[in-house]
Amino acid sequence: MQKQVTPTGAEGATGRTRQRYTILLPGIPVSSNRGALGWSTVALIETGGLRILFDTGSYGDRSLLMARLQALSLDPQALDAVFISHLHYDHCQNIDLFADIPLLVSERELRYVLDGEYRQRRDPYVPATTILSLKDRFQTVLDGSAPFPDVRVVALPGHTPGQAGLFLSREKILMAGDGVKNAWDFANRMSPPAFFSQDAALGNYEWVTANASEIVPGHDRPFRLRADGTPAYLTAAAEVTLTYFPDPGLEPKEVHLS
Ligand SMILES: [Zn+2]
Repeated sequence: MQKQVTPTGAEGATGRTRQRYTILLPGIPVSSNRGALGWSTVALIETGGLRILFDTGSYGDRSLLMARLQALSLDPQALDAVFISHLHYDHCQNIDLFADIPLLVSERELRYVLDGEYRQRRDPYVPATTILSLKDRFQTVLDGSAPFPDVRVVALPGHTPGQAGLFLSREKILMAGDGVKNAWDFANRMSPPAFFSQDAALGNYEWVTANASEIVPGHDRPFRLRADGTPAYLTAAAEVTLTYFPDPGLEPKEVHLS
C-alpha cells in the first residue's frame, strides 16, 4: 500500500520547522559530442519533518546514489516522497528504486508522456518504458500547490511543458531542475534545450530573479544572485575525473574537469 503525502494546504501551516537541502549527487555543467552525459543534481530536501528526494539521476548514477543514501543512514524506503522535476531519463530513471513511496510530478509533465506529446515534439530523452510501467504510482501536482510544508510547486515550462521546480518558500531556495540548467545559461540568458517553448524557458529566468535568493540548478552547483543579478556560486566545483584508456600500450589518461 503506497504512502500518501498529505498536502499542508497552506504554506507555513505546520509552523517553523527545519528546512534545508543536501546535495546527494552534484549536477555537472558539461556536454559532449558523444551524446548527453546527463549528470544532473539529486538532492534531499528536509522540511517540516519530511524527507523528499528531488530527482533521481540516471542509471549511471545508481550505485553512487545508493552509496550516498547509505552514507546518510537513509533507507530509500524511509523517504516520504520523490519529486521529479521532469520526465527526462537523467532526472527520473531511478524511480523504480523507491518502491511504495509517492512519486510526485507535475500533471502537465505526466500528460506529456502518457499522451505521446513527447513524440510529436521529437523529444528523445523520455524513458517511456520506465514511466509507463510505473504510471499508476505517480501523484500529480499543480503549479502553486504546496505538497509539503513550506514548499511550493513552481511551473518552469520550456525545456519540457511540465518541467517544475520546488520553491522552499521560507528560505527562498529554488530547486530548479532544468528550469535553470546551469549558471552559465542563466548568466547569458540562454535557454535550456527547449522541447516546448524557448520563450517560456527564458521567461522563467525573470521569475527566478524576482523571487529566489538561492538557486539549485538541474546540472550545476547552487548559486545565489548578486545585487546586479549575476550568479555567485555557493560551493566549490565538484571534482570530476574522467579516465580514458587510449591504447593498451599506454597509461590511462586522467582528465580533471574542475
Ligand atoms: Zn531535461
